[in-house]
Amino acid sequence: MSRGEDMLALVRRLYPICRSITGDGVRETLRIIREQLPLQISEVPTGTPVLDWTIPDEWNLRRAILRAPDGSILADTDVQNLHVVNYSEPLAAKLSLDELKPHLHSLPNQPDLIPYRTSYYKRAWGFCLPHRVVESLRDGTYDVEIDTTLQPGSLTYAELFIPGETEEEFVFSAHVCHPSLANDNLAGIAVAMGLAKRIQAKPKPRLSYRFIFAPGTIGAIAWLARNRDRTKLIRHGLILSCLGDAGSMTYKRSRHDDSEINRLCEYALASTGRPYTVNDFIPYGYDERQYCSPGFDLPFGAMMRTPNGQYPEYHTSADNPDLLRAEALEDSLSVLEQIVEAAEANQTYVNKQPYGEPQLGRRGLYNLTGGATKPAGYDMALLWVLNFSDGKHDLLAIAKKSKLPLATLAAAAEALKKVDLL
Ligand code: ZN
Repeated sequence: MSRGEDMLALVRRLYPICRSITGDGVRETLRIIREQLPLQISEVPTGTPVLDWTIPDEWNLRRAILRAPDGSILADTDVQNLHVVNYSEPLAAKLSLDELKPHLHSLPNQPDLIPYRTSYYKRAWGFCLPHRVVESLRDGTYDVEIDTTLQPGSLTYAELFIPGETEEEFVFSAHVCHPSLANDNLAGIAVAMGLAKRIQAKPKPRLSYRFIFAPGTIGAIAWLARNRDRTKLIRHGLILSCLGDAGSMTYKRSRHDDSEINRLCEYALASTGRPYTVNDFIPYGYDERQYCSPGFDLPFGAMMRTPNGQYPEYHTSADNPDLLRAEALEDSLSVLEQIVEAAEANQTYVNKQPYGEPQLGRRGLYNLTGGATKPAGYDMALLWVLNFSDGKHDLLAIAKKSKLPLATLAAAAEALKKVDLL
């Protein structure tokens, strides 16, 4: 199986699980991730204050069924868990159509799809149905059976830490709170896992890597509240979501225009030679909203293909595994690998012999035969690195000026370091 097919198989396995911001669906999801990666799992009890929020009661769904007056089943979460409003309180009742209607959600413009709806912080209940079903309902007595629990428990999140030579961290964060939704949720998880496995399989990296699998908003807030001191060590961060659709890559920048994560991502995307989009930061979207809040002000961007809200299947039953492409997952993973590679290579050096050019030939570094018009890539890279290693330009900045690949500049810097010129 290709890596893309591997990721798609994982998405298919996770898809039926009813996740939410708390509960056994998240735990089961993390248990499956832990089959492949040594996750450290944390539970934060209901009622715990986290920044300006409080961990809510834990929600679990056994089954929710809506029966028509003739006894036929209109919605059954055993078939599709999007049918129940996520965090619906338990209820068993017989209702008239007028009583039922305010609790039904549908999409008039996409009448065949089931919408995804939640009510985490306001006690409510409801069913989500295709609009054509809602329109067909006739007067009579409807049977509502919502078998859920909503009581004190805990919120679950997980992290994987891969130590590097430095304590500085590159953090990847994926949300794990969406029920049966594939691109928005599971694609990010699958690609994050692929990347973590890849980093783990390699020799010890220079940077340390942390992967956070947490429920959206409240999970990221809980992690930040409990790791306030650690955030000082975060050098780069990326939110991973919507990474499996057929669209091209989209990068949403962190709020500091010149941050290294922005330059790393834009460099890696440009290197693919394929079309991509870069959007500026806005305070809406995924958990970059929390990591980039002004108090933390962390350098987090978001890597996606087609962004949230911009594909018609978004937050509907059509965002299912059939929407995803193995090649798209594979492509997303390879872009992220290039970003990691660039982050590993990108350093700022200081030339120890800055007065005049040091004599490279004497040190066995310069292959240019006198008289040739212009040195080739690697020899040019030596000159560029020496000239701009003034403590102010990192290799990425030199790559931009010289139009030389970062990898060539990194190899040149490594060679210069060996002969003690940097
Ligand atoms: Zn979403």
